[in-house]
Amino acid sequence: MPKNTMNPKSKNAKSGAVVYFGSAHVERADAEASLPAKLERILSKVDLKRLCQGAWVPIKMHLGGGLGFTMIHPVFVNIVVKAVKAAGGKPFVVDGMFGTIATAAERGYTTETLGCPIVSAGGPYDAYAVKRKVAFPGLDEIGVFGAIWDAPCLINLSHIKGHGNCGYAGACKNIAMGCVDGVTRRRLHALSGGIDWLRDRCRLCGRCVKACDTGAISLDKKKKTVSFFWHDCRFCAHCVTACPHGALAIRARGGYRHFQEGMAVTTKTILDSFDRARILHINLLTNISMLCDCWGLSSPSIVPDIGVMVSGDMVAVETATLKAIKAQHFIPGSLIGSRRLTKGRHLLEQIHGKDPFLQIRALERHGVGRSRYRLIDVA
Ligand code: SF4
Ligand code: SF4
Repeated sequence: MPKNTMNPKSKNAKSGAVVYFGSAHVERADAEASLPAKLERILSKVDLKRLCQGAWVPIKMHLGGGLGFTMIHPVFVNIVVKAVKAAGGKPFVVDGMFGTIATAAERGYTTETLGCPIVSAGGPYDAYAVKRKVAFPGLDEIGVFGAIWDAPCLINLSHIKGHGNCGYAGACKNIAMGCVDGVTRRRLHALSGGIDWLRDRCRLCGRCVKACDTGAISLDKKKKTVSFFWHDCRFCAHCVTACPHGALAIRARGGYRHFQEGMAVTTKTILDSFDRARILHINLLTNISMLCDCWGLSSPSIVPDIGVMVSGDMVAVETATLKAIKAQHFIPGSLIGSRRLTKGRHLLEQIHGKDPFLQIRALERHGVGRSRYRLIDVA
């Protein structure tokens, strides 16, 4: 198994935003040499007092769903919670959908394990959202959940994994898709275009129907048709991924560039509501699986655990994170079903067919941060 340490002497080493890195590699059999202790040391280097003193501090997470067990382990959340408290803040963990909060205890997330309350960002009906105008084709308005919009500061605690719609899910997606109401999420997903059913490839096996948790897709074996009820479709592409015969395809209107650009515009609108010195992004590169945690399942890691990246600059931390996920570290047998790697420069592109750097470049173009970074290895 490769040792996932980072080379701080990268071409970005002398300038750019600071990204703290703690390696998952354990040099000696001592808890102080393990990843949680490294995260503690990294947080001691960050000016958390400036970020959160005296304030209620939302720690934005994706709490997963169903039988998922490879999201962020409560030990890491607890460390962040304690650091916020030590800095004089009042932390609470927040996620975007009440259904996720209601079942979080099944996945080990409770007030007792995390050390703070768990809050639904839009209230118990996912209805408290602040509308903001944006200028993007197909997306003229977004609804930002109130618990995020009202907050004076933000800790963005993201589990790193692949994603069918955009290749990569990290800090940007945790904000763009996790802090907005259902209407905005649907509009963002719809930016990718619709779904085409390729009749000649379909074997009427019904796997797409089983994969759809909204009931938006139906199969009529007598008429030999598959049809969509777009009203209920989240454009999550789960059915596309589930089809073993390549009979479903996302329509390429605007392509994935459009979706990723829409996420960048949404993220910028949300982050602009904060003083940038009062935002911290923490990317946990452990249990990096093929699919997003929203699938409600866990599959094996596609690469060995890498560690943790922490920065005040989202673009920097996302760039460093993606560069740390290397195709040569791919673990054979970790993909679901009969999926195989295909062409692509990045491992996640080889898995999902979408360039994961699109969203990072879009974020930088929209002024969210800088891709140049200075990596500081915290042992
Ligand atoms: S999973 Fe694919 S092959 Fe099976 S019914 Fe759906 S579209 Fe057809
Ligand atoms: S894209 Fe998602 S919501 Fe829409 S039909 Fe497929 S599985 Fe269902």
